[in-house]
Amino acid sequence: METEKNILPSQLDFYQILAIRGSDFFTEQKKLYKSLEAGVKGEQKVMKYICEYAPPHWTVLQNVWLRDFDRFECDIILLTGNQVYVIEVKNYQGVLVYENGRCFYNTHETSLNPFEQIRTNHLNLKRMCARISPSIDVQATVIFAGDDHEVVMKTPLENVRVVTRNGIRNFILGIVQQENHAIAEHIDHARLLRLFKSCEIDNPYRPAPLSVAEMKHVCPGIYCANCHSFNVQITKFKVICSCGLHESREEAIIRTICDYGVLNYGRPLVRKNLMAFFNGIVSHTYLISICHKYFRVINKGSYTCYVNPGLPYKQINHQFIDVKPRHYYHTNDDLSILGQ
Ligand SMILES: [Zn+2]
Repeated sequence: METEKNILPSQLDFYQILAIRGSDFFTEQKKLYKSLEAGVKGEQKVMKYICEYAPPHWTVLQNVWLRDFDRFECDIILLTGNQVYVIEVKNYQGVLVYENGRCFYNTHETSLNPFEQIRTNHLNLKRMCARISPSIDVQATVIFAGDDHEVVMKTPLENVRVVTRNGIRNFILGIVQQENHAIAEHIDHARLLRLFKSCEIDNPYRPAPLSVAEMKHVCPGIYCANCHSFNVQITKFKVICSCGLHESREEAIIRTICDYGVLNYGRPLVRKNLMAFFNGIVSHTYLISICHKYFRVINKGSYTCYVNPGLPYKQINHQFIDVKPRHYYHTNDDLSILGQ
């Protein structure tokens, strides 16, 4: 199964760091983070089943923004041997009632209508695929992945399948069976991917890198990688937190540089700004040695700066192969390794 990934920090990456480091100045972003986080958890639930049952020839695209007349985002586009599936994933709580095109969330009418959204995505994708071949079948599904969520369909919905959390596995297995028994024409993944690529746009809601003024509302320093507390003890080799996490100091510094890099993505890492971000808890000499060891130098001399990876440490930690050990979590009678 092929997947494609974005190399810029996602909204979630960006807001996750603000949720930890941001002052009340970023209250809206922190709220948004909660809802994005719930959405991602829902998609992960669906992807778990897809990864478990997908034959190797399937292609899965996640969180794709496309522009074809209108712009739209598809949570998941799944290409099987003979069909295209566009899947919208919601991770709600409470009760959602659908009746004659209107949605009521916990009895209040809501303008956030997932059925309208999937219908629009379905029409857009069908129109796009028809340019390659009018015989490509595009199926639309909305999956409600929330554990404590109830969906009541008071009126039927044409051309859109509604799946709730207990039906995700059977939905995926049904796709596998459909393909095994189908006589439909084989679809050309490479041509479809080229088409999607030609219409792909950047996420229009991706936050811009923070300004100098906004960075003043960001808490500098090292926080615990486990509980996110800033109240950590920094020794020569370790960062120790009362929650039990012992992280190597080197790893904590690289992780912190990556945090800074996400909030300032697209800009090189400037030494004096990094020093300010560590707020005096790391010596200039030690910071330079870490930067030289793990980040590529762009300029030499008094304005030395480094390539900004622009992604959170947890996504790129494989690039820092010399960093040992990873996170060691001590309990009274146990030693376990986190994040592996
Ligand atoms: Zn901790």
